[in-house]
Amino acid sequence: MTAPTIDIPAYRGNYINGQWQDAHGGGRIAVIDPATEEAICEVAAGGRDDCRQAIEAARAAMPAWMKMTAWERAKILKKAAELIRSRADDYARMMTMEQGKPLPESRGEVMQTADTFEWFAEEAKRAYGQIIPNSVAGKRHMVIRHPIGVVGSIGPWNFPMALQARKIAPALAVGCTVVAKPASQTPLSLINVFDCLIEAGLPKGCANLVMGSASEISGEMLANPIVRKISFTGSTDVGKQLMRGAADHMKRLSLELGGHAPFLVFPDADPEVVARAAVMGKFRNNGQVCISPSRFYVHKDIAAKFRDVAVAAARELRLGNGLDPQTQIGPMFEKKAMENTVALVADATSKGAKLLTGGGRCSTSRFPKGYFFEPTILTDLPDNAAVLTEEPFAPVMPIMTFSTTEEAIALANNTRYGLAAYLFTHDVSVGWKVAEGLEAGIIGWNDPVPATVQCPFGGMKESGLGRELGQEGMDAYLETKYVSIGLRE
Ligand code: NAP
Repeated sequence: MTAPTIDIPAYRGNYINGQWQDAHGGGRIAVIDPATEEAICEVAAGGRDDCRQAIEAARAAMPAWMKMTAWERAKILKKAAELIRSRADDYARMMTMEQGKPLPESRGEVMQTADTFEWFAEEAKRAYGQIIPNSVAGKRHMVIRHPIGVVGSIGPWNFPMALQARKIAPALAVGCTVVAKPASQTPLSLINVFDCLIEAGLPKGCANLVMGSASEISGEMLANPIVRKISFTGSTDVGKQLMRGAADHMKRLSLELGGHAPFLVFPDADPEVVARAAVMGKFRNNGQVCISPSRFYVHKDIAAKFRDVAVAAARELRLGNGLDPQTQIGPMFEKKAMENTVALVADATSKGAKLLTGGGRCSTSRFPKGYFFEPTILTDLPDNAAVLTEEPFAPVMPIMTFSTTEEAIALANNTRYGLAAYLFTHDVSVGWKVAEGLEAGIIGWNDPVPATVQCPFGGMKESGLGRELGQEGMDAYLETKYVSIGLRE
């Protein structure tokens, strides 16, 4: 076991209908620290029966929860936000231990989670309807908003707390109830959110936590007609499976899927400043970020300078256990991810790409344990390099060049993904044209970190369906109900 620096219980169960309980089958999953490869603790490994029980509990809780006013629900959610904030240091440590990212990044995610609960608690007070002018005398038309129903929330491991909050907070705020399933590698962050919701006074059954088999839990969410919506963040392949499975009951879906973000640097940009921003954006969380820039297209006139500065900046990054305050880059989250990255780099170099820095697992003499991968920069890549055609989700930065604005837009859009895109220019005419031409749901224009709670987040093309955060992120949990009234003459 990893030496405990905070008190992590040896075992946590599922939370269903107001009770922490073992999985029906009694199974458990070990949570592994990717920096040490040691088990931190165990959690329940639930399945179909656990999920069914949770769905029933969510159904039973919903009538009373949706009858409460948005103001009453907001009090509970804002209290949960305060609790999360007040425990940020402890929760950040636990996140770093289960996921690997450095403490400041974990702390930032915990604070973002609190902001998300607070923001949706407030926003739900403004779930306005509409009065629409009538065209026939004696009629009146009204539009009201109705909570969608029981929501299944499935999240990934890369942002184990914030991405679940983007689903659970708006769903609860507007009067839905929830069954949530975290990624099996990173359940502790969501458990911590549940502890705060419970302490804040969330009535039993309103939010339920089921950890365990993804196929069984999602299978029950899809088959069970009580679940009216599934909100999923994860890979495009699983998103497509869920979309097929949701058809039978016409379940609503929010899908936040993979990305392959282009990063365009135009000739008026300062190559030194932008290269540093690029390295920061690229290697954050080891590139295991859905909106991570992953294809760098730099204007040919400034490409050499950009490359030199990027290589120097990547070599300066300090790798280590995320709990060490000096660490800037932690381990990748699991062994398979590290092995995939080795294969991606080998594929590119075997096809003629030039390796500028990094390229492999960090030496075992320096890191005998843990999934540490060297920040890697490649150039001269052929179009068919896997790192350019498939989402890499890895600390690999491929740098290419372009000559014209039209070419840059075409290269950027040459992918089945459309989540985020970045462009760097202070020429407003160029920037505006590019922002309009890019097929991406999120665009960072001179901004390498565009996501924020009050703005919509989501993808075009195969990057997903719907939007989270912002007003759209609340609308995703509401049905529009139109009421036409005939008045007595
Ligand atoms: P994943 O394999 O799709 O897993 C994500 C979640 O889905 C986990 O909770 C996983 O559970 C569960 N899952 C796995 N198989 C499932 C199935 N057949 N049915 C239902 N749920 C299933 O994704 P990942 O590879 O771990 O995560 C990285 C991906 O997420 C990347 O593609 C990334 O771009 C994407 N992502 C997108 C966004 C966004 O906002 N667009 C944000 C972050 C990440 P288990 O852990 O138990 O297998």
